[in-house]
Amino acid sequence: MMTRLSDTTATFRPDDAAGPVAPGRILQALATVMAPMLVASSAPLGLLMGSGCSSNAPPGYETVALITIDTWRRDHFSEAHTPALWELAAQGERFDNAWSPIGLTSPSHATMLTGLQPWEHGMEANNHHGYRLPDGAQTWPETAPAGTRTAACVSAFPAGPDGGLAQGFDRFDGPEAGERSGEVAVERAIEWLSEDGPAWLWVHVYEPHGPYAGTGPDDVSRYAEEVRRADTILVPLLEVLEKRQARVVVAADHGEVLLEETCGRQHERSTSEHVLRVPLFRWEPGRASAVRSERVGLDVVPDLLAGRAWGDGSLEARTATPAESGLCEPGCAPGCAPLGVLGRDRVVLDDTGRWVARPGRGVFVEGRPRPEHRTLLDSIPAVPAPGTVVDTPELRALGYTGPDGRSGPSIGP
Ligand SMILES: [Zn+2]
Repeated sequence: MMTRLSDTTATFRPDDAAGPVAPGRILQALATVMAPMLVASSAPLGLLMGSGCSSNAPPGYETVALITIDTWRRDHFSEAHTPALWELAAQGERFDNAWSPIGLTSPSHATMLTGLQPWEHGMEANNHHGYRLPDGAQTWPETAPAGTRTAACVSAFPAGPDGGLAQGFDRFDGPEAGERSGEVAVERAIEWLSEDGPAWLWVHVYEPHGPYAGTGPDDVSRYAEEVRRADTILVPLLEVLEKRQARVVVAADHGEVLLEETCGRQHERSTSEHVLRVPLFRWEPGRASAVRSERVGLDVVPDLLAGRAWGDGSLEARTATPAESGLCEPGCAPGCAPLGVLGRDRVVLDDTGRWVARPGRGVFVEGRPRPEHRTLLDSIPAVPAPGTVVDTPELRALGYTGPDGRSGPSIGP
């Protein structure tokens, strides 16, 4: 668990937040902190899934699927919480030290679809906050070979087409407002997959996101029920993907604070491990099973979808990952200032500590982060002002607030 700001012997300096930076500076900074390449796993070939792997797919027949589960904590990725996904991960390549760049649905998914950080792809907050993916950004489906059908079946407005996440998909199926059951997204995806031929697919399941449904006595148990429900909902889709000998990448966009922080049962206002550390794995026939303990960010997802192998020069492990907090409210801690989207914290985390830049307040040091990672922190530009804000009863029912962090209800107590 991350150390609370108020509990640390943090050093504090007068505000020296970095201003806008030239394009490419971020990537240069990232390059300076990349860890040396790691040797590819020598683990034996993983077991294939069930009998479906006897499917006789023709050569060149390529199905690739990105499955994202919203608000799925890393500590709720286990045999007990998600038995189907855990079994699949055990047969695949599990990234056990994976981190989201932000606890917000739209920008995190934009990172998975572009391989860029939020401040690089430009979608720095949710679509209803007025941020969108620029048309010039290259998305994963836009890299599909000619003749490949592409589709997305999503389950909530923040992952929907408003904001640009539909860019590049031949078909985009999602609710026009609010959320819908992941069962609907899975049904639509399976129907779409009934046609033969190369196919790239993104399926988004929203069940673990609040408000939590279920029969448990409290939110913690109901959250666990929602995670288990997401796992169950995905089983029919996994069976179809198995029969198609697909490459499958599964990830959460971010986690969730339950009871650990004062602003509990939310993910928008924290940079703690509960929010930023996420499940991530890849499975495909013939790929060696492995558990990677090296730090990676969700910006590695396009490379995983492309089939690039660990150690081939594109899946470098990082010694640090950058991230931002989302909206903030007074009294919410840690990693939070009540300044909304524009005033959120910027953070660089490594395995020994973290740098935190809090606009107007200065730079904090927690633990003993490596000095060179300060360069990465300074390279993250301030968040630009949003465009048109969408504020609807459906979004408020999901707990979303406006860009000032105060215009709607929070999910927490
Ligand atoms: Zn989300």
